[in-house]
Amino acid sequence: MRKKIVAGNWKMNNDIQQTEALLAEILNKKQDNNVAKIVVAPTFVNLQAAVQQTAGTNVIVAAQNMHQAENGAYTGEISVGMLKSIHVNTVILGHSERRAYFGETNSLLAQKVNTALKHDVTIIFCFGEELADRQSGNHFNVVETQLREGLFHIDKNDWNSVVLAYEPVWAIGTGETASPEQAQEMHAFIRTLIKDNVGEAIAENTSILYGGSVKPDNAREIFSKPDVDGGLIGGAALKADDFLAIVNAI
Ligand code: 13P
Repeated sequence: MRKKIVAGNWKMNNDIQQTEALLAEILNKKQDNNVAKIVVAPTFVNLQAAVQQTAGTNVIVAAQNMHQAENGAYTGEISVGMLKSIHVNTVILGHSERRAYFGETNSLLAQKVNTALKHDVTIIFCFGEELADRQSGNHFNVVETQLREGLFHIDKNDWNSVVLAYEPVWAIGTGETASPEQAQEMHAFIRTLIKDNVGEAIAENTSILYGGSVKPDNAREIFSKPDVDGGLIGGAALKADDFLAIVNAI
């Protein structure tokens, strides 16, 4: 059965003191028997501290990005080997903010995907349409292209290291969430795409998270949909009580 996952993408928030305080509160208050796997993604400079703080717990620490090259003259960038050397084995790729502000294209993301999977790093692969795409009825095409160009080339064996995160851009940080029906409709479309292009068993076993203004008061209804396997949470992941309420909504 596919995994239920709630991941907190902390984006460019929380210095080291805030990171340690938020993590301590999450570890202290979380239930021992969560159905959902908990993932947190602090900024790069706080990853090592977060890994140490979560050692021996079931909280997984993820990076928010990585470079596609193994190493080299790429000033300011972070390689997969650097992440692995501090025991970070999960990375978010293709977040809409990376696509919009840092020019990450589907073909660049395909390279990042390859590098991560080559090193057995689990990817949380993000994609989703912009408002204009939805208004023009083009949202299914946009999502299909993002998946085909960025992800569908991978080896079948690598799909167990893939988590998908559908994040409609118009719902990120806006307070406007996709309705549970809109989320379910897109997630079912994605699962059918995987079934038709990769295979039925892989489609059934791949977790598809929803992201975009998930809050404690809407999480339960979104997560109740059959093809929604959890969430990728931005703003509400910055408060332990809100984040854990979302975790417990699964
Ligand atoms: P918000 O939950 O703040 O809308 O952000 C969603 C997101 O981008 C998670 O990656």
